Amino acid sequence: VTVETRDRLVPLSPEEQAKFRDLPASDVKAADAFEPLANGNYVLHRRALLKADITMRSGVMNIPGKGFFRIEKGGPKKFKAYRIQHNQVRGPYKGGIRYHKDVSLDLFKTLAADMTWKTAIAEIPFGGAKGGIKIDPFNYSKEEIEHLTLRFIYKMKGLIGPYIDIPAPDVNTNGEIMAMMMRQFTDGEREHHRLRGVVTGKDVRIGGSEGRVRATGQGVVYCIEEWAREHKFDLKGARVIVQGFGNVGSNAAEILAAMGAKIVAVNDAFGTIHADAGLDVHALAQHVHQNPKNLKKTVAGFTGGTAISKDDFWGVDADICIPAALGEEIDGPVAERLKVRLVAEAANGPTTREGDRVLASRKIEVIPDIICNAGGVTVSYYEWLQNQRLEHWSEAEVNARLEQAIKKNYAIIRDISLNRPQRTPLYDSRPYCVGQQVDVRTAAMVLALKRIEAHYLLEGFSQ
Ligand code: GLU
Repeated sequence: VTVETRDRLVPLSPEEQAKFRDLPASDVKAADAFEPLANGNYVLHRRALLKADITMRSGVMNIPGKGFFRIEKGGPKKFKAYRIQHNQVRGPYKGGIRYHKDVSLDLFKTLAADMTWKTAIAEIPFGGAKGGIKIDPFNYSKEEIEHLTLRFIYKMKGLIGPYIDIPAPDVNTNGEIMAMMMRQFTDGEREHHRLRGVVTGKDVRIGGSEGRVRATGQGVVYCIEEWAREHKFDLKGARVIVQGFGNVGSNAAEILAAMGAKIVAVNDAFGTIHADAGLDVHALAQHVHQNPKNLKKTVAGFTGGTAISKDDFWGVDADICIPAALGEEIDGPVAERLKVRLVAEAANGPTTREGDRVLASRKIEVIPDIICNAGGVTVSYYEWLQNQRLEHWSEAEVNARLEQAIKKNYAIIRDISLNRPQRTPLYDSRPYCVGQQVDVRTAAMVLALKRIEAHYLLEGFSQ
């Protein structure tokens, strides 16, 4: 997709600045000329230059009080956009949209397949998809991201729809972006109300579901509760480390903290905060999500704890580790360092093969991503159902259904893992057990594949 980008002001490094010491100051009067971006650059609004007294040399400006900047010309810029539709045998393609600088075709293929397994495990009538744009969102303004989003949906119009493929939020996308997508998709349609279900993760005021924002974090906690019940482990006072403090990490942390757990360390892409007695998670969430000055939405700079290195983060003494950021973070060496009993995979694909092997050898248990973070897509399904039926459910109703669904399917996975075909009155694991014990990740895949296989066998699907 191509969008028109604005001119940017990129600050010079101290060494570069030295070369421009004698450059006379420019005077840009309009206060709204500089729109700060999360990466430290500014968008320069051209109209402001009409009122400016500017001296430039080799594209460099000296702005009093702000420093020396190089102007990077804006203009049409191309971004790679992706949508992978992996499988639709169980229902319309379903999965999030990710805006990130390090995405690739292979990554989206993997994540789309994960959605196929996840929707099967969650027992919701959807298939698997994933997509997004290769962009560093920290270097773009809201307006530029909006234009990009609208172009993306314009190009995908024939590929998506409430019964075809249903996008949702993922890394660096949210309800605001879903609203833009819905607007672009339904624009000019006579029955536009009937198309609300084309995306999920919308704001509750425009057709989103109660409980959707918290759903992924809540689902993670329901899984952890089941694990704790099984191991007679008291979550009150449990020590938890969390990697990633976006929607999923922050909600899981807040819910666990409210249950009496201690969040002892939180790491993100820009820093780590540690407090042995437990962080004030609510204050941390305020710092990250409500502070307009915190453009990167990072835990770094939070005063209610001490900063430690990422390496030390993985070694913090705790009971539970919740990776809730990007994939492949828990590799062999990290798995060696972890001092926890349980890894609850809130992120998609956070553990590498080697990491998995090390965790198993160290007897650290894993709740695999395709059940652990399935709460998000489960409530996406409730949102879609409410849209199709023009209904609005209460948060209590949403959570009750979510809890029942996650705990039930988690229990089936445990039954498969422990080869307990007889344990049926509550959860029927009989058709899925494979006659021997398998690790929990394999058990989750067994459940997913068996549910998918049924469609091929019984419907004779040949796609
Ligand atoms: N992006 C989320 C996930 O990875 C949610 C997907 C959805 O709701 O469709 O599960």
